[in-house]
Amino acid sequence: MLRAMFVPAVTAAAPRGRLYVVTGQALCVVRDERGPAIPVGPVGEADAAWLVIGMLGAEACFARALAVDEPPPPGTEPVPLRQLFGALPDDDFGIASRALGLTAWDHDHRHCGRCGGETVRSAHERVRTCTRCGHGAYPRLSPAVIGLVERDGCALLARNARVALGFHSCLAGFVEVGESLEEALAREVEEEAGVAITDIRYFGSQPWPLTGSLMIGFTARWAGGELRPDPTEIVDAGWFRADALPPVPPPFSIARALIDDFVRRHA
Ligand SMILES: [Zn+2]
Repeated sequence: MLRAMFVPAVTAAAPRGRLYVVTGQALCVVRDERGPAIPVGPVGEADAAWLVIGMLGAEACFARALAVDEPPPPGTEPVPLRQLFGALPDDDFGIASRALGLTAWDHDHRHCGRCGGETVRSAHERVRTCTRCGHGAYPRLSPAVIGLVERDGCALLARNARVALGFHSCLAGFVEVGESLEEALAREVEEEAGVAITDIRYFGSQPWPLTGSLMIGFTARWAGGELRPDPTEIVDAGWFRADALPPVPPPFSIARALIDDFVRRHA
C-alpha cells in the first residue's frame, strides 16, 4: 500500500490526529497484532501542550513531551526510539524523530536567549517569538560531515575512541563556524588520521533530528601523508580492501551507505 506523504506544518484544522507522545528519548506507542503503532485520537485536555508536526496525508501529526513525573497515556508504553527503528513504518519513524527533536527545541526555548523574556509559538512558522523583544528562536541544525577516503582501491576506516561502537566507520565531525563542508572534511581527516585529501565529491545526506544534526556525506581520494591516527579520537585506523573489511556500521546509516557504495565499486 502506498502511504501518504508527510508534509511539515505548524497548525492543524482539527484537534485530532496521530499522537507522538515523547518521554525522554522514548515514544509512547500502542501495540496491535502487527507490532508497535502510533495512537490516533483527539488531543484532549492538554490542548496547548501539543505541537503540530505536520500532516501525513489528511491526518494531522501532534507531538507532546511528558513532564518528568507524568505517566504515559493509558494504553501506551514508552519504547526507546532506537528500538522502534524498523519496527515502525519508515514515515512514522521519521515523524517520531522530528517529534523528539521539535519537542526538545520547544521546551528549551520557552525563554528568550537574548533578553530572558517569555516566548510564544508562532501560528505561521516554526519559531518561538519573544513577547518582550521580538527575538525569534528557530530550530537550529548542526551540519556534520562524513567521508569515505580511498587510496589504491582501499577505504580509510577507523574505530572511534570516545564511543565504544565495536565497528570501524568513515571519519566524521561537526562543521565549524565559517567553514565550507569540504574544508570541514579535509580538516577532520587531517586532524584524526593525518592524511590530506582531494577530489571531494558529494554523496548524500542524512538528517538526525534527535540531536538536530544533518550529516552530509562525501567521497574523497587520498592526496598525501601516512596514517597517523589521533589517539584521543581514534582507537584503530587502516586502509581496507572491499573484500577484507572490519565490522562496519549497521544498515540505514549514511556511513554504511558510503561503505556499501565503495564495496559495489570494487566488487
Ligand atoms: Zn527577548
